[in-house]
Amino acid sequence: MKIEHEEIRKMFYDKCADKRLKITPQRSLIFDELSKATDHPTADAIYKRVRKTLSNISFDTVYRTLLSFTEIGIVNLVEGTGEQKRFEPNLHQHHHFRCIKCHTIYDFENDAYNDIAVPKAVQKQGVIINKRVVLEGICSKCKGK
Ligand SMILES: [Zn+2]
Ligand SMILES: [Zn+2]
Repeated sequence: MKIEHEEIRKMFYDKCADKRLKITPQRSLIFDELSKATDHPTADAIYKRVRKTLSNISFDTVYRTLLSFTEIGIVNLVEGTGEQKRFEPNLHQHHHFRCIKCHTIYDFENDAYNDIAVPKAVQKQGVIINKRVVLEGICSKCKGK
């Protein structure tokens, strides 16, 4: 677990250097908070977490920083659903189970889904660079209510 965290940090430093994004204490903290998150947070959620350490940081700074992270490819965006943008620190191939009631997104891995065949019609439409299966339903926390 510790090693993995160091690898993630190294990736962060390498990518920033590569894309000439200056590493500031703010950016570093925002990246740290996001890489710890497992809840696919919104910019607002990250802003609230970062503000505990840097009380005078602005929402705008956090938002712009998150977008620049997605531009250089160290963070992904969760596919849009008409809700607020949500950020994805987990860059390993994985899939989502989304609860339609509480909007929690649960990560899961599945080899069969990783190997899913791309339909011919889609192959003609473009080059596939990521495959993600999204299952929607009601999570067990909401089901009991
Ligand atoms: Zn739920
Ligand atoms: Zn995810």
